Amino acid sequence: MPIANKLKKINNALPEKVKLVAVSKTKPVEDILKAYETGHRIFGENKAQEMFVKQPLLPQDIEWHFIGHLQSNKVKYIAPYVKLVHSIDSVKLLAEVNKHAYKNNRIIDCLLQFHIATEESKFGLNLKEALSIFNSDFFISLKNIRIVGIMGMATFTDDMDVVRAEFTHLKSCFDELKEEFYKEDDNFKEISMGMSQDYEIAIEEGSTLIRVGSSIFGARNVAK
Ligand SMILES: *Cc1c(COP(=O)(O)O)cnc(C)c1O
Repeated sequence: MPIANKLKKINNALPEKVKLVAVSKTKPVEDILKAYETGHRIFGENKAQEMFVKQPLLPQDIEWHFIGHLQSNKVKYIAPYVKLVHSIDSVKLLAEVNKHAYKNNRIIDCLLQFHIATEESKFGLNLKEALSIFNSDFFISLKNIRIVGIMGMATFTDDMDVVRAEFTHLKSCFDELKEEFYKEDDNFKEISMGMSQDYEIAIEEGSTLIRVGSSIFGARNVAK
């Protein structure tokens, strides 16, 4: 099935509250344009340099979401235009995003990434760490970032009970932070969870942003 059809099929089946981030990492700009021409505007990349190269080649009304592990020294490549950083996993990174947002005269929306999978390799915070960030004076002093929700990646497994339990846990972390820090703030509303193999479960568990790559653009050559 062509990219445009696969994308439209997923988009058409989404509940109103859920948005799709079309994950275009490793794919050429021609493929992104095929998706763009269906009217889709939200694209995700996981490498700052790759986003930096593609962004000027593509229409300027694309909303670029950064979904991968972000190194502090790479923030400058995406700060002028990035719409949402899904992968904040330390105060240090948050401070760096704030610094570059300030330089660009912007406020950059961010999600805190939670570690919900059993694999050691996946980045992210636990609830205690997130609470200590929100409770710190330093966090409150960062005026050029805005936290609009949280993100997580489930364990890479065929056992969908495990995946579902991890998504349920992420939703409960969201609910706790919402209650404690963002009760009156409608901007804190995003739960970024769900990829090609598990997004339907993620939606059932409360996802508002799914990040889907291979089901739209086809398999990638290298595991990234
Ligand atoms: C690659 C990637 C995705 C999309 O993965 P697919 O399985 O191709 O849908 C989603 N989230 C992150 C963080 C990724 O790196």
